[in-house]
Order: sequence, then C-alpha cells, then structure tokens
Amino acid sequence: MATTAEWICTRCGSTNRRLVPDGATRAVDECLTCHVRHEIAADARPVRWRARPVGKKVA
Ligand SMILES: [Zn+2]
Repeated sequence: MATTAEWICTRCGSTNRRLVPDGATRAVDECLTCHVRHEIAADARPVRWRARPVGKKVA
C-alpha cells in the first residue's frame, strides 16, 4: 500500500502530492510547478506534510 503525502511548495505555494510507501515519514519530492526539490516529513496530521527546500542554491 502507499500513502498520498500532500505538501506545499515553500517557493511558489503550489500544492504537490506524492505517493510514499505506507509507514514512510520522510521523502524527497520536486515541485511540479517550479521544480524546487523539497524534503517532506510527515506531521502529526498525516494528510499535510511539512516541506523544506533541499539543496538551496543562489540563483
Ligand atoms: Zn514550487
């Protein structure tokens, strides 16, 4: 089984969804809109995951 992790992009505010294995609490996903990679982590409420940018670079 898999769980849908929903997270909000910290750059553009888009809502993204990623399928993660059941029981997973962390994943890395890329925003569909601006392609910034984020590390996402399950929160106390499992529907909406916390997200933070990964590999931040100076543009
Ligand atoms: Zn984005």
